[in-house]
Amino acid sequence: MIGFLFEQVVFGPIKSRRLGISLGLNLLPENEKHCTFNCLYCECGWTTPKNKRCLSFPPRDIIKSELEKRLKAISDKGSFIDAITYAGNGEPTIHPEFTGIMNDTVELRDSYFPDAKIVVLSNGTMTGNEDIRNALLKADINQLKLDAGTEETFQKLNNPIIKITLNEIIENYKKFNGNFTVQTLFTKANFKNKTIDNTHPDEVQAWLEKLKILKPNLVIIYPIAREAPLSEVEKIPPEVLQEIGKKVEEAGFEVEIYN
Ligand code: SF4
Repeated sequence: MIGFLFEQVVFGPIKSRRLGISLGLNLLPENEKHCTFNCLYCECGWTTPKNKRCLSFPPRDIIKSELEKRLKAISDKGSFIDAITYAGNGEPTIHPEFTGIMNDTVELRDSYFPDAKIVVLSNGTMTGNEDIRNALLKADINQLKLDAGTEETFQKLNNPIIKITLNEIIENYKKFNGNFTVQTLFTKANFKNKTIDNTHPDEVQAWLEKLKILKPNLVIIYPIAREAPLSEVEKIPPEVLQEIGKKVEEAGFEVEIYN
């Protein structure tokens, strides 16, 4: 099976160009991908189908003790971390105890590495829930997915397994008042005899219009990095990403481009 999955709740630390030394938190079941999306390019592979889900999320107390154990070990060695990043085998905010886990993370970060940033990589589908949104606002960096400016491309590329529209996502993102980062993966693909291309000028323009509404503090754009579940998914060349990045800057936003 194609897909890169984490086997532990706490992983790393990983050195990241943007976040520095980052300790990862995987709130999803080990070795199984769970998400509200089923993106055609997902490096974790396809979302586990309903009839095969075990959904045994690691409990909050285990996550807290695993995180504390690791933070203490790093601190005892005289090392440090720059960030604690929620990532892992799917969408972290679907964990039923997400709000409590965020409180624990803030508490542990404050006691071991008060300067470290708490970062959440999320597809944003749960941001309509006020409790989840308030928990996310306790993080220092919310990196929220926005891969499309049109409903059609959103549905095809992110392939949600719940009923949700791009407009709902945009309305929920507005509630962050610009206090978040947009992350966008650019790609082209063929799926079920349909072409998907969020690099098409019309698509880029529609996406830029959404950015203008949302006013994020940063826009991160990148291509696929690992093998995707769908073999037709294309890696977009750096020069195309540079062109898109230029348009983001011209629209007045800070942009980081990863190749
Ligand atoms: S939102 Fe992220 S984890 Fe979920 S399917 Fe898309 S790429 Fe994978």
